[in-house]
Amino acid sequence: MLVPGGILVAAALFAAADLSLPPSLAGLRSLAPYTVLGLAGAVTLWFNRGRAFAVALSLLAAYGGQRFATEYGYTSFAAHVYYLAAVILVPLNMFAALVLPERGAVHGRSLRWIVLIVAEVALVAWLASWGQGHYDAVDDSWLALFNHWGLRAPPVPLVGRIAFAAAFAAAVWRAYPRFLALDVGKAGSLVAFFIACWGIENFVVFATFMAAAGVILLVAVLQESYRLAFRDELTGLPSRRALDERMRALGSRYTVAMGDVDHFKKFNDTHGHDIGDQVLRLVAARLAEVGGGGRAFRYGGEEFTVLFPDTALEEALPHLDAVRKAVEEYRMAIRGDDRPKSQRRGSKLRGEGPADETLSVTISIGAAAPRPGMKPGEVIKAADEALYRAKQAGRNRVST
Ligand code: GH3
Ligand code: MG
Ligand code: MG
Repeated sequence: MLVPGGILVAAALFAAADLSLPPSLAGLRSLAPYTVLGLAGAVTLWFNRGRAFAVALSLLAAYGGQRFATEYGYTSFAAHVYYLAAVILVPLNMFAALVLPERGAVHGRSLRWIVLIVAEVALVAWLASWGQGHYDAVDDSWLALFNHWGLRAPPVPLVGRIAFAAAFAAAVWRAYPRFLALDVGKAGSLVAFFIACWGIENFVVFATFMAAAGVILLVAVLQESYRLAFRDELTGLPSRRALDERMRALGSRYTVAMGDVDHFKKFNDTHGHDIGDQVLRLVAARLAEVGGGGRAFRYGGEEFTVLFPDTALEEALPHLDAVRKAVEEYRMAIRGDDRPKSQRRGSKLRGEGPADETLSVTISIGAAAPRPGMKPGEVIKAADEALYRAKQAGRNRVST
């Protein structure tokens, strides 16, 4: 209730502020970034995404700083300092958030982000107000540094561009090769922020892109949460929850297959849990490639489900047997325990080291299609019984 309530309150404040202003929508424009970035900060904090929280908080501070700086006048020394802070410190914060490991947002260490950003805000505010008072004597003071060509702005000065480039490189490095929503979202909000800073002289551009940076972050966090809920982390297959949802939307004609790794317990016991996990990934990868319109899910543990919507049992069977065969034929190379990890040393010593072992696994599959009036849960149960028969009949086969 806190979430919809919070959103409603924010929306109400938003509407009230807008109504009390002339129809120029100026109020809406300046409030939208606060609202969206504030929301992004709250959601990332709540979902314990420390680095995304740091990004949201930095952007919020930058936006607030820019709004505050206008009090000094757009061409004042203070406004210049606030602008430099935004285009240099925010990308640097983002850079730090991208290269540091995720430590969460709601426990112990996450406080460092709040401390860091509050310290930055305090420093910038002090520098701006103190410098504003001493600026007359600028040519004789170290404040002249701020007029250095590398810091001349707007638009984004050279030093800021370097900071942005560094942060963007870190974002790409972090996102590659999986391109998970939240990593991509951080890069996206950085880009939106860069455009906002570049267009600082036009308030509509600035505010719109600041809000966009927040929306990007917010949507990315939601996307990641969706993925966490519906994807299995180990194998990358859709999870049982996704299967349940898909089962609810089936017609009357479909085929369900349950697959189970043969003698997996023994496998785990002889080779260890890590190799066991590797086996699960390999089986999942083969199952994901099943033909005939089938879709693989990780049902749980070492059990998988393949669902063929709008497919009769006889149509699905050849595809299931092809997957079973693909798993059987796959040779998985595993490394001996004391084999050198490094490639270079490995090739030198290969002759003396323990030989590579290759492993193979098999799976048994049970398939079932609904008879009239059968519920999806009952079809799964029928597939499970067929799987049991496949095990009884000697494993590494498909039964119906
Ligand atoms: P069967 O041929 O009859 O299926 O024999 P089995 O040994 O595979 O028997 P069962 O299906 O009961 O074994 C399940 C085992 O799978 C138990 C557990 O050790 C292992 N297991 C379940 N989930 C995971 C996992 O995520 N990772 C690893 N490494 N092992 C798992
Ligand atoms: Mg099992
Ligand atoms: Mg098994």
